[in-house]
Amino acid sequence: MMSSDEENLNTLKLLYDKTVKCPICDHEFKVRAVRSSSYRIEKKDSDFFIHYTRINPYFYDVWLCNSCGYAAMKADFPSIRSSKKGLILANISTKWHSKEYPTVYDSKIAIERYKLALINYTVINSESYKKAMNCLKIAWMYRLSGQIENENAYIKNAIESFSNAYYNEDFPMYGMDRFTVMYLIGELNRRIGNTDEALTWFGTVLTSTMAAQKIKEIARAQKDLMKNTINTDIETEADNHTENKNQKKRFSLRKLF
Ligand SMILES: [Zn+2]
Repeated sequence: MMSSDEENLNTLKLLYDKTVKCPICDHEFKVRAVRSSSYRIEKKDSDFFIHYTRINPYFYDVWLCNSCGYAAMKADFPSIRSSKKGLILANISTKWHSKEYPTVYDSKIAIERYKLALINYTVINSESYKKAMNCLKIAWMYRLSGQIENENAYIKNAIESFSNAYYNEDFPMYGMDRFTVMYLIGELNRRIGNTDEALTWFGTVLTSTMAAQKIKEIARAQKDLMKNTINTDIETEADNHTENKNQKKRFSLRKLF
């Protein structure tokens, strides 16, 4: 068993410092970045959350300027529109107190930094798909730490923002085309038990002539998964009301389907 110091030392080897210039205040600062050779994918969840072994790149996804408080996911950090800068300076920088983080981050720190980014996206009234992805990543960090209620709360926020983005904004969104976003909204609804909404979104993917085969297959798999869950629920319900003597009959009936 490695001590946490040893673990930190091993993690440090997978990171490097990258110099970034803040587009709001021009301050140059260093961000922690994960060497691309360090990535090891363990598995992917059905809502596209990637589990990594060794090091978790999500922990280092938010860049934060300690001088002015501007924070965003690294994909968005440099590209803020100049018309939005005043909003950051007036609403974030005036209230910002600089903050020191340890050299190695964890899910708790990641959640805090994603939340700082979310405040920034909200202040500049950014596109909904950015807020949606930000909320989804917070949900994933809560999933990692086993906090299901918080995870679901942020999944709800992500659904709301992705739905708004779907109807009002341009595709692709972080590389996702229209059908991938449809599927994702369906899957997020499925995860929090919104069965009807999930079925509607999956159905739209499945009946679309434009959607890629791959995303249709995933949508079908999740739809089937849901049907099985619904059937199990009905059977469990039936178990509660049915005498044992009926069991044999029910099993033979089930065989037919
Ligand atoms: Zn700055």
